[in-house]
Amino acid sequence: MTARILDGKAIAAEIRGETAQQTADWIAKGGEQPCLAAVLVGSDPASEVYVRNKQRACERAGIDSQLHRLDASTSQAELIAVVERLNNDPHVDGILVQLPLPAGLDEREVLDVVAPMKDVDAFSPENVGLLVQGRPRFLPCTPHGVVQLLKRCEIPVPGKHVVVIGRSDIVGKPMALLLAARDGSCGPEAANATVTIAHSQSDDLEGIVRSGDIIVAAVGRPEMVRGSWLKPGAVVIDVGINRVGDRLVGDVHFEEASAVASAITPVPGGVGPLTIAMLLQNTLMAAKLKTGEA
Ligand code: NAP
Repeated sequence: MTARILDGKAIAAEIRGETAQQTADWIAKGGEQPCLAAVLVGSDPASEVYVRNKQRACERAGIDSQLHRLDASTSQAELIAVVERLNNDPHVDGILVQLPLPAGLDEREVLDVVAPMKDVDAFSPENVGLLVQGRPRFLPCTPHGVVQLLKRCEIPVPGKHVVVIGRSDIVGKPMALLLAARDGSCGPEAANATVTIAHSQSDDLEGIVRSGDIIVAAVGRPEMVRGSWLKPGAVVIDVGINRVGDRLVGDVHFEEASAVASAITPVPGGVGPLTIAMLLQNTLMAAKLKTGEA
């Protein structure tokens, strides 16, 4: 079998185009131009690239963007003061604190300060709580991107056994919630799965993966999931982004998996571009929420 390639890049471009149109419509109706403020502490090269890509995507969608650069030596109190200033700035609709923060800064404490109505990453306890209760305000960008991909590629999800490898607050946990939901963020046909969450303490990870119809790998270990682990015909969503030398690879061994799976996301060009597309959607939604429109 040679797997169908799930082209996240093309789907992300489609979604960004929709957001650009919705933003133009919003502004034409008298709405204020949405604005995303990114906070970047230090100069981690990968974070620099991510922030630049997010800003560029904002510009193309007609969304205003601000970059607040802070020195790596910034204290916790100084960083919190910047976030609080953005919370109180009526022009700023969405706030994004680029992770990881330099050692010594407490990420959780900083993210907890972001106003829930401006929390376009959906990391705040209030937004996570709403998601858990099945009435989300902002959807977490990477898991929502995966659901969009499954929906737009017409991959059947209801009743399927999804194995999510990884239980992080950013990817694994919200991914499992979205796919196990009844109505789902993109409708019931991209939800209603039976979900297993696997992690570093799971016994027989290979056996668990082999029982999955859809595998979502969010581990952070280059090419850990081998082709031999997969049920023939499984759908493979590779969230991992790992730098190996001068190459980016996923958490799944792409060549091996492509010979066994029915469909697979490439790295790069799979889930990554969708994360940014969903961030733009959330920023537009934040601008609408400010006026009580969303
Ligand atoms: P993370 O916070 O480090 O979580 C990794 C998860 O994988 C943890 O739950 C960990 O288990 C589990 N794990 C680690 N080693 C394992 C093993 N040998 N077997 C089974 N499970 C194992 O990472 P993350 O933030 O979720 O990110 C995961 C990957 O996705 C990374 O490569 C990251 O770069 C990428 N990512 C991509 C996007 C995108 O836009 N495409 C967005 C976010 C992240 P424990 O909980 O037991 O430690």
